[in-house]
Amino acid sequence: MKAAVLYETNTPLKIEEFELPETKPDMIRVRLAAAGVCHSDWHVVKGDWPQHRIPTILGHEGAGIVEEVGCQVSRINEGDHVILAWKRHCGHCEMCQKGFPNLCDLPPYDAGLPRFKGRQETMRRFVGMGTFSTSVLVPVDALVPIDRDIPFAQAALIGCGVMTGVGAVVNTAQVEPGSSVAIFGCGGVGLNCIQGAVLASAEPIIAVDIHDNKLEMAKQFGATHTINASCENPVELILEMSEGLGVHYAFEAIGLASEPFLQSIECTRKRGVTIFVGHAPVNTPITMDARMLMHEKSIMGCYYGSARTHVDFHRLIGLYRAGKLKLDELVSRTYPLEGVNDAFEALANGLVARSVLSLD
Ligand SMILES: [Zn+2]
Ligand SMILES: [Zn+2]
Repeated sequence: MKAAVLYETNTPLKIEEFELPETKPDMIRVRLAAAGVCHSDWHVVKGDWPQHRIPTILGHEGAGIVEEVGCQVSRINEGDHVILAWKRHCGHCEMCQKGFPNLCDLPPYDAGLPRFKGRQETMRRFVGMGTFSTSVLVPVDALVPIDRDIPFAQAALIGCGVMTGVGAVVNTAQVEPGSSVAIFGCGGVGLNCIQGAVLASAEPIIAVDIHDNKLEMAKQFGATHTINASCENPVELILEMSEGLGVHYAFEAIGLASEPFLQSIECTRKRGVTIFVGHAPVNTPITMDARMLMHEKSIMGCYYGSARTHVDFHRLIGLYRAGKLKLDELVSRTYPLEGVNDAFEALANGLVARSVLSLD
């Protein structure tokens, strides 16, 4: 098998050959067909998240076909088509039992997982996934089986970006029909927040970005209004549009905790809720006026769109089949595994909704 490895931050990934370890009784081997190139992978490349150690095989969005099943595994069969879900869930801890398996106490998949043997060293995998790879070995809770007619590229995106964006609106914030929303950042996750807002019948849906091409995509995904924050003040405009009140919900899908983060609080109305969907670099401080929340405003964190993967992935697929969730339009570009560095460049330059690596 081969995989794309990050050895040093801010350097290109290298494609290398690895030996697959044997499939342990509780593990499953998946031959990957598609992997999405997500901003989280890019954070690791840039060195924003030093808690994820390198060298590592990057990638955490993926879909493929089950190739081998350990003898203790019962729920999954060889030949099943699956989406990988990067957050573990045990089913027993307090958060799992309360319906928030995205907040399960289990450590990430990479704790104690078999590493892949390369020419020089054994290799860890980003969040235990490492989907920039022709095969992965994962425990059973990482996999959600799907129907065979769902294309792999589209399926892979459900595993992180789509789930996170749509879930932030529908699960985390539970936006009610008719509420007004603003979405800051129209990348892979932000566009899916817009789709979530459409599904929740929000009105208006205001998209904010600094790239005109992203704002065009935002319209395509259902934004009713767009604001280019590089030349206009989004807070002033949003207040103007709402008779000085502000929006009911704002979603920050950038992850920088700088100006847009404060704007996403300032643009909400009394009792408004700001959902912090983007994941900022480690040790990112926020400085804000302590009186900003006085009118009972709140700020909520969001982890994986409050995903209940076995429920939500199937709902998302159902919406895709019904033509209510745009997945084909999200796949802007397809690259082979060897094109992973080009895919990162396209992401860094804001050129794509999502790039997908085609691995078969
Ligand atoms: Zn749990
Ligand atoms: Zn992701």
